[in-house]
Amino acid sequence: MSVFSKRHLYAAAIALGCSVSSVQAQSATSDAATTERLMQRLGALAADSMEGRRAGTPGSVRARAYLVRELTAMGAKPIGSSFVVPVTLRARAGSDTAGANIVARIPGKNSRGPVLVLSAHYDHLGVRNSVVFNGADDDASGCVALLTIAERLLREPPEHDVILAFFDAEESGMVGSKAFVNAPPVALARVAMNINLDMVARQDGKALWVSGTSHTPSLKPIAEQAATNAAVTIRFGHDTKNLKPGDDWTGSSDHSAFHTKGIPFLYLGVEDHDDYHQSGDDADKVDPVFYRGTVEFAYALVRAADAKLNSVTRSRK
Ligand SMILES: [Zn+2]
Repeated sequence: MSVFSKRHLYAAAIALGCSVSSVQAQSATSDAATTERLMQRLGALAADSMEGRRAGTPGSVRARAYLVRELTAMGAKPIGSSFVVPVTLRARAGSDTAGANIVARIPGKNSRGPVLVLSAHYDHLGVRNSVVFNGADDDASGCVALLTIAERLLREPPEHDVILAFFDAEESGMVGSKAFVNAPPVALARVAMNINLDMVARQDGKALWVSGTSHTPSLKPIAEQAATNAAVTIRFGHDTKNLKPGDDWTGSSDHSAFHTKGIPFLYLGVEDHDDYHQSGDDADKVDPVFYRGTVEFAYALVRAADAKLNSVTRSRK
């Protein structure tokens, strides 16, 4: 990857005492380090040792521990007494019935107003016929994006509280997100919107979709503003009923639980690709430059939405 080699070039130049502008070298180094950290985390959460993170399995418990460790290390705090919020799963052969969402709160400058829920799901399909389904794109990519965004929000606090929700059991009927909206950590009336990230790493379709503005048109200028400097192509759509089956993504991931409660959402995701729900959904199939671009856009979107959170209007269903 060009970013990595550039970093090494700068590092070598500095070691040799060459006259590379130190500011330029520093920003290139931190830029490459950010991408490297992103890919390192993606590799960790989508590792074979996580056994596909299927809800109710030991691999899921390991993934949970990883997320809690990362959140703790960056100084994030749970919203209640623990990051781990138990969720009851439907009984299934070979699985435990105990699942859990991981929930954290990034305090805003004004902690009494509306809140934004930023979400991704950490579960995936598990192991089938001794083959591990790693789900690097689906949805380790969204979870790692959340960790990256959380680190920045902790350094530069948002205006409003941001609740981070790493949902369990999306793949088994969005159990985690439904449990969240049915027993929310703050009154649902305070939840101004949900930004949900599910499959944000794969470059195959050469674009990241923003879905949900047809339901809440006031969110479109906010997303357009965030897209102004995006390094990846941002497209709007996949949120109207006139599309062919499967192309309306309104009910396709955890944002659906919020939508059902009348809470505006923006869903970020890529088109399905050849490795979607296949054992080949691995971290090494991800182009770090594309993935970095989608994460940067997601961060810009969170900032833009936070700045305008008071003006997001709910359409009561
Ligand atoms: Zn997913």
